[in-house]
Amino acid sequence: MSSPIIGVTCDYDVEKQTSQLHRGYYDAIVEAGGLPVLIPNIHKEKALELFTSLDGLLLTGGNDVEPGFFGEAPIPKLGFINPFRDSLEISLCRQAMKQDMPVLGICRGIQLMNIAMGGTIYQDLESQWTSGKLYKHSQQAPDWYGSHEVELEKDSKLIQLLGVEKLRTNSFHHQAIKKLAPCFKATAWCGDGVVEGIESPSHTFAVGVQWHPEKMWQRDEKMLALFKGLVSASIKRKGGL
Ligand code: MN
Repeated sequence: MSSPIIGVTCDYDVEKQTSQLHRGYYDAIVEAGGLPVLIPNIHKEKALELFTSLDGLLLTGGNDVEPGFFGEAPIPKLGFINPFRDSLEISLCRQAMKQDMPVLGICRGIQLMNIAMGGTIYQDLESQWTSGKLYKHSQQAPDWYGSHEVELEKDSKLIQLLGVEKLRTNSFHHQAIKKLAPCFKATAWCGDGVVEGIESPSHTFAVGVQWHPEKMWQRDEKMLALFKGLVSASIKRKGGL
């Protein structure tokens, strides 16, 4: 059987007018046995036509999300936003979830999944976090380095995939999950209480992580398991073993 086709969203550089993606994402999909197809910055109605050809979806990292998509006005510490990308990815995510197509969300992707399904995020952790001391989530270290610890929920897909109760992850985010969407449960946390992983118990594979496994898997083999989880769920959906 041919490899499952995984749609991978791209970032869009407004100045250069270029859809772009770090190779760590698509190399990981190939390494995990899938065939990545990059989804450029096209209109959402057109992009939805891709669904007849896709077996799985990967929502990648990037800039902040337009707070209007979760019913808030922008706060001063909100960073760069691209409402066009948000709207495209929200449509893709909702369609995938509706069809129970496997979805993996990374960094911005976990936030996007939560917003698409009715949840909210902190627009800026440092100015909005009120639950005690915050760890450093915008690490100043090599991008593959695990700068903080993450603890996994015992009964979760994440613990099944990663095979450990605790792990060190990299961290490049100033936004994070606030109110969970009804379909998701939190399954990973940083020591300060920030949600670092979510999944839907009512879907075959809908998992999000706040860290960047695509920058770690070449040095930390277990990080590839997240991509393997997406690919094997996509193979099953396609009708394979
Ligand atoms: Mn973090």
